[in-house]
Amino acid sequence: MEDFIKLLGKANKVYKENFDNSVTFERAIFFSWYCELGDCKYCYMSTQHKRIKDPEKARRSTASLIAEAVVCKEMKWKISFLAGGYRAYELKGFHELAKRISDAYGDKLWLNIGALSKDELEEFKDVSKGVCAAIEVINPELRKKICPSKPIDEMVDMFDYAENLKYEKAITIILGLGESIEDFELLKKFIKKNKISKVSFYSLNPHKGTVYEDKPSPSSIYQATWIAKTRVAFPKIKILAGMWSYRVNALGLQLLAGANSFSKFPAIKLFNSKESKNIEEEVKSAGRVLKSKLTGKVEVDINKNVKDLDLPKDLKKQVKNKLESYIKKMNSD
Ligand code: SF4
Repeated sequence: MEDFIKLLGKANKVYKENFDNSVTFERAIFFSWYCELGDCKYCYMSTQHKRIKDPEKARRSTASLIAEAVVCKEMKWKISFLAGGYRAYELKGFHELAKRISDAYGDKLWLNIGALSKDELEEFKDVSKGVCAAIEVINPELRKKICPSKPIDEMVDMFDYAENLKYEKAITIILGLGESIEDFELLKKFIKKNKISKVSFYSLNPHKGTVYEDKPSPSSIYQATWIAKTRVAFPKIKILAGMWSYRVNALGLQLLAGANSFSKFPAIKLFNSKESKNIEEEVKSAGRVLKSKLTGKVEVDINKNVKDLDLPKDLKKQVKNKLESYIKKMNSD
């Protein structure tokens, strides 16, 4: 424990030397429940793989995705990335979708849609500024067992192309899949070698029907240890802490460990909830200022947000309806 407190103090010092005191909430936008691979051992989609055969039927509506992007812009929530299963869309269709979401949000997006080829990365350059690889487990032996169909080499190839095309590069890590803190050295090497600018640390959320069903999520101190070690080793890197709604009272700890932002919190559903208020308290207790809105009255000019979007008339109407329903939900308490 003494070592952990020392590490935390060091990480907080390094954070303060390199960043201002702001904190941002980030939201990953998920577009589909279909995944062609469907065999990552921790993943909810692996439990749906046999059931969902038709990618089109497993997609979220375009209107809901665009409306969500508008909510993110208005509430100052950063979009971490667009994510969904492998091959949920054909390339052309996905490009159109990403363009619409990016236009509604008013900024280019990060993509987390598997290992992209050089041609694919070139294709997405107009809508995307960064690529994120779902590494999840850095230990190679463990990774082969847990993510058998998405080899790390393909991700590394993507990062090489991304470097040449001047994309930013990020990775996600899930803690609690069987790794140990000794694996941090492997992560350190990987970040350095691939010039990663952002790392997201999530904790296992055990899904029914997976081999992790009865496994506990790792402790908040364990998550903070990974974050703090990363902060000390890479003073300027961006670090995101995944915070499930039942763990928000550990957010202050992750911020002291050097996290810049947090995600995984279901912010539309729990807007103005006691958990949202708890988050605001946690941010304050860590001496930081939350830039994103999670409480209070939501006032969004729907027409202004939608009128200039280059969308067919019926889709615009659907987006407006969806936005209305999101705002109603957020103002319901
Ligand atoms: S590739 Fe992604 S969506 Fe597909 S099973 Fe693995 S983690 Fe789940």
